[in-house]
This record gives sequence, structure tokens and C-alpha cells, in this order.
Amino acid sequence: MSGIRSTGFLHLGNYFGAIRNYVRMQDEYECYFMVADVHSLTTHPDTKELKPNVHRVLAENVACGLDPEKVALYCQSHLYETGELYMYLNMLAYKGELEKTTTFKDKARQHPENVNAGLLTYPVLQAADILLHRATLVPVGKDQEQHLEMSRNFANRFNHRYGDVFPEPYAFNFGEQLIKVPSLDGKGKMSKSENQYATIYLSDEDDMIRKKIMKAKTDAGPTEPGTPMPDYIENIFLLMKLVSSNEVLDKFLDDYNRAVIRYGDMKKQLAEDMVVFVRPIREKAEAIRNDQKYLRDIMEAGAEKARKRAAETMEKVREAIGLKYY
Ligand code: AMP
Repeated sequence: MSGIRSTGFLHLGNYFGAIRNYVRMQDEYECYFMVADVHSLTTHPDTKELKPNVHRVLAENVACGLDPEKVALYCQSHLYETGELYMYLNMLAYKGELEKTTTFKDKARQHPENVNAGLLTYPVLQAADILLHRATLVPVGKDQEQHLEMSRNFANRFNHRYGDVFPEPYAFNFGEQLIKVPSLDGKGKMSKSENQYATIYLSDEDDMIRKKIMKAKTDAGPTEPGTPMPDYIENIFLLMKLVSSNEVLDKFLDDYNRAVIRYGDMKKQLAEDMVVFVRPIREKAEAIRNDQKYLRDIMEAGAEKARKRAAETMEKVREAIGLKYY
């Protein structure tokens, strides 16, 4: 089980941190993937943006290879059971631990005028999304590790107090380390809302991709063999590893190690490989976004599948808590 907020354009971080794993999981596992539209309400978006944003996330997921026939691909707000589980879990979540969450502290610092209770209990809602399906594997990027730990804590607390209902959920990336896709300016990670010129979006046109990559931070290059690699150069290599062939990556690594690398050439190569990677996704997503009926069918079928599992879980939850009076 996993989800992506409908707060803007999906980017390479979403792809390599999350969606790539969704696609790899769909043949082997029972999967629930959602557009986290309720989570997006914590930051009070313009309500006119909700529909196009939800459609965009759905279309981009499918364009990346997610098959709505194989998985439950649904919209968070269509599952009313989530709200009920969130309410019960809130009784087991403590103010102190919620206030200590890194994402809460960051958001509260960025928007001191909007520190609402939904923002504070964001990890509880996320736990409800996951536990509702009694999910064990949660494909996410590295930034979500702390939230997953909180989901495990809430699950264990529930089981301890009311009896075993939930398995422990873990962040999952096929045995590999969780990924953080860095931004092109050498500061932080690619993101939907910050660093827009240092983030490659799955909807970026070819020339925009080239422009962004050619502007990525570099320097004059190593002066002698064996010079340690600065973070921002390591980031460019990491992006190359994600979209270029092994031969191309090895060539530039070798150039670096021999201190003969030309970053201009490296960025040109990376830009072309990136264009080849993003273009088919962009074109496919565009076509799907224009097919409103198909999007509606996906959402309806996805919610139906997800509701089935959610209803089973909520029966167990109410029973365990003792909310059965006749
Ligand atoms: P969000 O965009 O915050 O809703 O995140 C959706 C998914 O994308 C989550 O699984 C995140 O961990 C993942 N994600 C977002 N940004 C990055 C990034 N820069 N690197 C790796 N994963 C990311």
C-alpha cells in the first residue's frame, strides 16, 4: 500500500522513490495505491485545483506502467472507512510524539499561520491509510521512514490495547536501500513544490529538461586523480545511474577518476538520456488526462476493490475495540 499527494506535478523523486516500485510489485502482490487528496487539504489548496491535480496523479501513475486492472488504484477521499480508523487511532497518538515529527516541524516553520490539527495528525491519517488494508509492505522514498515507524507504533499500540488486528508495515524497496532523488542545485531533494527549476517533472517538455540539466551545479572538475567527489557532483552521477546505460555511467566515472571529466559533456549526455526517459511518460499521461471517462472508471473500480478490504478490516477493528453492543 502506498500513496502520493495530489499537490502538483509528479517528478523523478516520485518515480524512483515510489512509482517504479509500485509497478514492480503489481504482478507479485495484492496492491492498494491511492491518490492522497485528503492529505493535500492540510495545506489549504485552491479547491478548483483538486480535480485536475487528482486526474494528473492518476494519469501519471498509469503512464508510468501501473495497471489499474491489476491493482486497486483509488482516491483517498472515496474510502470513508479511512476517516473512521483515523478517529480511533487518534486516541492512541500522543501530542508529544506528533509534535516531534520532522515533517510537522518543517511545515510549521514554513507556514506558521496554518499549524492545524490535520497537519499535526498527518502521520495518524497515513497510518490509517496503510493499516486499513492491513498492509505489510509500503513502497516509499527515504523521506517517509519516520512516518512508517510511527505507523508501526500505532499498529502495535492498537494490538496491545485491543488485540491483534494489524501486522507491522515496513518501508519497502525490493531489499535495496530507500531512495532520495536529489535536486539539481545541490540543495535537498526534488520536490513538488520547492526548487522547481532544480526538479525534473514527468510533464517537462524536452527543452525544459535540457535547460534544467545544463544549469545543474558543477565546478571546474577534479584537478588530480582520486579527488573526493562533492555532493552536487555525486547527485549528477546518481541521476545518470537512474536513466543512462551502464556504459555511459562507467565512462564518466572513469573520466572523473582520471581527472579528465568535462561536466558540460556529461550534462549534455544526461539531458539526452533524461529526455528519452521522460518523453513517453509525458505523452502517455497527456493522452490519459484527456480521457475523463477512463479516469472515472479507474477511480470507481479502484475504490470498489479498496472498500472490500477496508470493510473487512473495520469489522475486525470495531470488534476488537468492543464497539459491538448487540
Ligand atoms: P509526496 O510527493 O510527498 O506525496 O510523496 C509521494 C512519494 O514519493 C513518497 O513515497 C515519497 O517518499 C516519494 N518521494 C517524494 N520525493 C522524493 C525524492 N526526492 N526522492 C525519493 N522519493 C521521493
